[in-house]
Amino acid sequence: MRAASSRGLGVRLVLAFSLIAMLCALAIAYYVTQARQQVGADYTALVTDVVRAQQDPAAMRLTLDSLIDRPDRIHLEQLNDLLWRIPRRIEGIRLQLRRSELAPASYDELLDELAQVESRLPALEAAIDAAAEEGLDARGGEAILALGLDIEEGLAWAYSELNELLHRASAEQRQLMERLALAVAVLLLLLLVAIAAVMRMLFHLHRQRETMRLQSRTDDLTSLGNRRWLREAAGEAFERRRRHGSPLSLMLLDLDHFKRINDAYGHPIGDAVLVAFARILERQVRRVDRVARMGGEEFAILMPDSDLAGAEALAERILRATRAMPLPGPAAEHRLTVSIGVVEAEEERSFDRLYSRADQLLYRAKADGRDRAVAGHAAPSPAGGGVAVHQDAGVAQHACDGESRR
Ligand code: GH3
Ligand code: MG
Ligand code: MG
Repeated sequence: MRAASSRGLGVRLVLAFSLIAMLCALAIAYYVTQARQQVGADYTALVTDVVRAQQDPAAMRLTLDSLIDRPDRIHLEQLNDLLWRIPRRIEGIRLQLRRSELAPASYDELLDELAQVESRLPALEAAIDAAAEEGLDARGGEAILALGLDIEEGLAWAYSELNELLHRASAEQRQLMERLALAVAVLLLLLLVAIAAVMRMLFHLHRQRETMRLQSRTDDLTSLGNRRWLREAAGEAFERRRRHGSPLSLMLLDLDHFKRINDAYGHPIGDAVLVAFARILERQVRRVDRVARMGGEEFAILMPDSDLAGAEALAERILRATRAMPLPGPAAEHRLTVSIGVVEAEEERSFDRLYSRADQLLYRAKADGRDRAVAGHAAPSPAGGGVAVHQDAGVAQHACDGESRR
């Protein structure tokens, strides 16, 4: 049921994420299209043309003033020059405006005005031609002045408006660039935050996994490693033995008549005894030895780089320490003893086989009266039943007889 509800949550999360991602993609696409239009626009050529064209109305006024002051051919030719130049400029600007990214609505009025200016040019041209042929009298001068001023005014207005429009457009462009830079900075920041969040999550997951791994290999009561942990440690120890030929021993320990402690003082005292015994074991072993609780009141010690003699010496120390161990609370008067089976790895290549041999010797220790260790070298004898015993201060040596205590 929990799996189904977490699957439902997963589907909802994926849907929500897809929706958000789609909205983001749409917003980004719209924004990028707008930005490309604006940022891609290059107004430099248009601005240059407009600045040049703005000289035309000024030149027109200057030439008209000069013509009125001194009506000679030179000024008429200058006016003719202007009349030839003005439509070309207008045409150039018109073309550039249509090719630009500017919205047509923003410059349509200006183009209308320029078109009107263009429509007035032929009349001025005719007046200039007439003046050139017949000479410039006062009436002809006034007509040229009126027509010229009209054109000059139209051009000046249209070009200054156009100038204004281009200034506005490039100001907007600059603003957009600033906003884009800000958006990029925010995106980078978000990316960094997202990366940091993912890293944090990964770190948490890793820690959680490590904790779970540790928990699954730890005995809750004594905090020693458990059977699984010892099996893994044994795998490494066997590998080391294979590579370096170093000895490897295993000791199995089972508390004697432990049931009596539970029966006499209760389960919690039994638990406290198990914990105290675990601490005794930890105190006796070397740093490289691996102590584990295999279950119930049974413990094991894996001893890398230790031969049978070394393991027997440790067993002896544990026997003594267990006998001398003060038991907690109401069990203080009780003497605890332990039976031990000790083996050194010989032909075995697996932990299970080594364990099985140690278990047989532990059975022998129980059968021989408990509170002792039985250490063995040999594999189960084909004849069966024969046990060579070497008794020495509580540690007996047997040729293993293939029996099991269970
Ligand atoms: P023997 O000398 O033959 O080993 O006798 P024994 O009483 O130690 O062995 P037996 O297998 O008959 O009983 C083991 C007892 O250990 C029985 C069980 O209640 C107790 N035991 C197992 N696990 C725990 C535990 O976690 N806490 C406590 N308090 N007792 C436990
Ligand atoms: Mg026992
Ligand atoms: Mg037992």
